[in-house]
Amino acid sequence: MSAADGRLPVHEAFYSWQGEGVHAGRAAFFIRLLGCPIHCPWCDSAGTWHPDFVPKETDRRSVAELVAQAQATRAEFVVITGGEPAIHDLGPLTAALRAEEIPAHLETSGAFPLRGNFDWVTVSPKWQKLPLEENIARADELKLIVEDDGSIARWMEFLAGKNWEGKPVWLHPEWSRRAEEKVLRRITEWVRENGAPFRAGWQLHKCYNADAADARSQPPAPLGGDAQRGF
Ligand code: SF4
Repeated sequence: MSAADGRLPVHEAFYSWQGEGVHAGRAAFFIRLLGCPIHCPWCDSAGTWHPDFVPKETDRRSVAELVAQAQATRAEFVVITGGEPAIHDLGPLTAALRAEEIPAHLETSGAFPLRGNFDWVTVSPKWQKLPLEENIARADELKLIVEDDGSIARWMEFLAGKNWEGKPVWLHPEWSRRAEEKVLRRITEWVRENGAPFRAGWQLHKCYNADAADARSQPPAPLGGDAQRGF
């Protein structure tokens, strides 16, 4: 958050339901903040950082405004996402949500120190900038993006010796490869061979086109900002 004006740069804030992870299917208010320096080639929120898609004018909203927008819905919790939301100081926003007894969930790559108090933290690590060990330890669940049939083994090598055991570990096909048989088969085999804490994941809200039900949601940019990849 900019210390100068006490506002957060918002890409979109809208009411939908959580489509991923342990809390899938529950009504949620999403606050998607602008900015991410990681630039994954298949990012599904490139509109928050890609120069061809970021808005010309930055929409800066006060914490009070964001909390009031969440309160006007039947959301069970707020999801603070991005972009990479942890590049911002989320302390004032999470304090204001807690004051209103609205749980604050965070979706992060885990690559930056967390500022704020969160009721639930999802860490989805990225090779382009690896997560801090303290964030892996803080995570309530992990979400691994499976790009090819070697992805899961590579992540297991990285996670060895780190404090992740006992947390649900979701295996999500990278969205542009969601129809590739070898990716889906590898996830299936891994879950069948290992059982808990591994779970096969999906982005259910996309199948429902759920976010579009709120006119305040933005149309998605192409994956990674690359028109060839589509969405
Ligand atoms: S997937 Fe996440 S970490 Fe990667 S560029 Fe997009 S917002 Fe940043």
